[in-house]
Amino acid sequence: MPRALITGITGQDGLYLGEFLAAKGYEVFGMVRGQSNPKIPIVEGCIPSIQLLEGDLRDLSSLIGVLEMAQPDEIYNLGAISFVGLSFKQPELTGDITGMGVLRMLEAIRIYKQGSMDGIRFYQASSSEMFGATHESPQRETTQFHPRSPYGAAKVFGHYVTQNYRESYNAWACSGILFNHESPRRGFEFLTRKVTRAVARIALGRQDVLAVGNMDVSRDWGFAGDYVEAMWLMLQQEEPEDYVIATGKTHSVSDLLQIAFNHVGIDDWQPYVMQDERFFRPADVAVLVGDATKARAKLGWHPTVDFKQLIEMMVTADLENERRNPGPAESRHQPRPSHGLVAVPEQPAPPALPRRVSSSGSGY
Ligand code: NAP
Repeated sequence: MPRALITGITGQDGLYLGEFLAAKGYEVFGMVRGQSNPKIPIVEGCIPSIQLLEGDLRDLSSLIGVLEMAQPDEIYNLGAISFVGLSFKQPELTGDITGMGVLRMLEAIRIYKQGSMDGIRFYQASSSEMFGATHESPQRETTQFHPRSPYGAAKVFGHYVTQNYRESYNAWACSGILFNHESPRRGFEFLTRKVTRAVARIALGRQDVLAVGNMDVSRDWGFAGDYVEAMWLMLQQEEPEDYVIATGKTHSVSDLLQIAFNHVGIDDWQPYVMQDERFFRPADVAVLVGDATKARAKLGWHPTVDFKQLIEMMVTADLENERRNPGPAESRHQPRPSHGLVAVPEQPAPPALPRRVSSSGSGY
């Protein structure tokens, strides 16, 4: 039975990947940080066979301890401060975890393996945010990086240090340059989830308005369940190489709003949405779109869920969540829209959920 260690097991991708590897017959170890991490019951609920080990990407000795316990054949390094907005507010912490954490994990492998890095395959979660203010479209493996946030810069460091260990120590180490991928388990701070949750609450009469930041951006959004399969495929190749994983289609924030509101029967979303400068970032990335030709050709990977299906899946899951657990009342600080609310259908037609999506999406 192959053994896999996942850092970031409590995150969106960690949960999908853990489920995916457990279903493939792996013995799955997940690294969790902090005292009595509140997400542990969620992880254990999703992946009953998981074995959780305590460690932190800021603490080298804890990483060595985790490796000694797990004795992994494959390591998926997903742990990070992953929210671009937070990286501007806590840049040093982001550099330490998202950037230096990669180096610490690679060093931990070298120490645990007493100098050789044989016998372990390592996956680094690189990001399309590394491209930033790019001059090439679509972005591919050879596109130059120009990160526009502390998050993007930290990811560039992690990306290059992974390459460096491959070249210097013959490590079987690769990076997946993943474009945005979402799901009903996406954190509430991320735009897609913020929108789908707010739309569900507006449809149920629990919220009046959605405040968003910069709307002049477009992203290549895919489904997280598809993307974790690509991570695994990369580690099954003969040689370690870096791959772009993307749908190849970019969508604007307006597209996202249109699909989400339409799904609950609202044709005109504008009265419900306002721009709020508090959510603007010091620098932003306008348009990203990836070219996954290499992944298609070498890994045989392709996305199975398109953008509309993805957003509708997320709205449907958030409607279910909201009906089960209404959550706190809308903040009084949120300004109301100038228009009155229109009646919305109580029960929007739920689309079929694609495989690997829990209909009981708990928010993780
Ligand atoms: P996520 O939901 O934000 O999960 C981040 C994970 O990192 C959480 O499990 C978190 O644990 C863990 N973590 C944070 N600080 C840590 C530390 N000091 N030590 C160990 N673990 C720590 O992110 P995701 O969407 O699953 O993404 C997974 C990875 O892919 C991340 O590296 C992200 O940057 C990268 N990525 C994501 C996307 C995307 O669109 N989703 C695109 C490209 C790349 P706690 O629960 O304890 O906070």
